Amino acid sequence: MSSKSTYFIANWKMNGSPKDLIQIKNLDFFIKNRFKKHNKLIVYCPPQPLIAYFAKKIRSKNIKFGSQDVSNNNFAFGAFTGEVSSHILKNSGAEYVIIGHSEKRLAGDNYNTIKQKINNANQNKLKIIFCIGESLKENKNKNSLLILKKQILASLEKGLNFKNILFAYEPVWSIGTGIIPSQSYLIKVFSELKKILIRHYSVKSPKLLYGGSVNAQNIQSLKMIPNCNGYLIGGASLTSKNFIDIIQNYYS
Ligand code: PEP
Repeated sequence: MSSKSTYFIANWKMNGSPKDLIQIKNLDFFIKNRFKKHNKLIVYCPPQPLIAYFAKKIRSKNIKFGSQDVSNNNFAFGAFTGEVSSHILKNSGAEYVIIGHSEKRLAGDNYNTIKQKINNANQNKLKIIFCIGESLKENKNKNSLLILKKQILASLEKGLNFKNILFAYEPVWSIGTGIIPSQSYLIKVFSELKKILIRHYSVKSPKLLYGGSVNAQNIQSLKMIPNCNGYLIGGASLTSKNFIDIIQNYYS
């Protein structure tokens, strides 16, 4: 991964169908024509059944594909109904995987399963979009930094290939709410995350992303955050129009 790229990562959650190939084609066409000179990387994370279909149809150096989750079982194949291994993901065209999203934590992921998922993805050379973020209550109690540190230390082992890990700070209270943190708050969080990653893992230049209600308007202030290497975008990534507007305003 180039350290200078800005990442625009689309988390489609439980949305999308084969017909939505047009959204990705529109975006690809637009960035090829309008943003050639900018060093950016678009990663689409649709529901798993769509990854192979999209990856076969879209051959673009700007667009990659990822999964929204992966099995915590450390096997390529096996009797694990409903599970999808890192190996299967890789073979279906995924280069990235989101791990630790707050919606998956709510559905049962814990520090241990997240650690297993990260280790499996790391072994299979998938690039990991590791989501961390505090709840509204934790934020109100001024525990955000403590929680973020705990989420990192409890799930990341020292021997990982940190070049393949993107850290997505997604405050839970911002996801899907239209509310984003203040610039000063984000600056503080990002600088603390850098300190934690240097101190505990000797990662000097971690790739830090912000996620939570990113849209074409608030990208104007979010792009001012130093050390922010990109964005994880849910609702506003579902249509090419909204997604393109974000990228366009980022570079304007
Ligand atoms: C997300 O769930 O990863 C996310 C960022 O969602 P939204 O942009 O819709 O807040």
